[in-house]
Amino acid sequence: MTDNYQGIREEMIATCRRMNAAGLNTGSSGNLSVRIDGGLLITPSGIPYDVMRPEQIVEMDEDGRYYGDFIPSSEWRFHYDIQKARPDIKVVLHSHAVHCAILACCRMDIPPIHYMVGVGGGSVVRCSGYAPFGTQALSNEALKALGPRNACLLGNHGVIALGQTMTQAFGVLEEVENLARIYIGTRTLGAGVLLSDADMDVVLQRFKTYGKQAGEIDPSIAERVEPPAHGGASRR
Ligand code: 13P
Ligand code: ZN
Repeated sequence: MTDNYQGIREEMIATCRRMNAAGLNTGSSGNLSVRIDGGLLITPSGIPYDVMRPEQIVEMDEDGRYYGDFIPSSEWRFHYDIQKARPDIKVVLHSHAVHCAILACCRMDIPPIHYMVGVGGGSVVRCSGYAPFGTQALSNEALKALGPRNACLLGNHGVIALGQTMTQAFGVLEEVENLARIYIGTRTLGAGVLLSDADMDVVLQRFKTYGKQAGEIDPSIAERVEPPAHGGASRR
């Protein structure tokens, strides 16, 4: 029997519901795709997540055709193009998170106002130009704004977050929304103090060892997260 990716379909719906429950999106806005062998799975268009069923998740092949009874997200073009252009990621998550959307409506990038901008894989989260939803023009704008990074804002629209896993893409979305909120807050107090390119280079280096266990940290990386001296397996 061929794999119908039941587990992935269920996790996709759970991720979208979690996104709405966390206040990172509203209604049937937003969409999610996950790379599979020879194609991708993508949320269907216009179906609210709380009634979405696993069999409504749409399978697309690498030539951009879809299969089954449900039409894929209207944003299938940017999901398809990003999955193709970025073999380093497997998950594309799009939402209309409110603070990201506020900046996107002002066509503002998120500059290195806080070191966590590095979570987006660079020293800036760029905002794309505007193009109507569901168009090839929007996909082209999204790819340009993403570059090699893991997140971008979509002009007058929302945000895209990428990851190796759904958990990771969700984490990037959560963090970018937090950064957007921080940036808006600093703008209300004046300009804020931006980190330099050199500061951000250090952050991006340190992220390579962040969250790793002692045995996984490569001691040859000069700029690494350093744990304290190890006192043995247990104190007593
Ligand atoms: P879909 O319901 O077609 O995925 O569209 C939602 C959306 O956010 C369009 O940009
Ligand atoms: Zn959208």
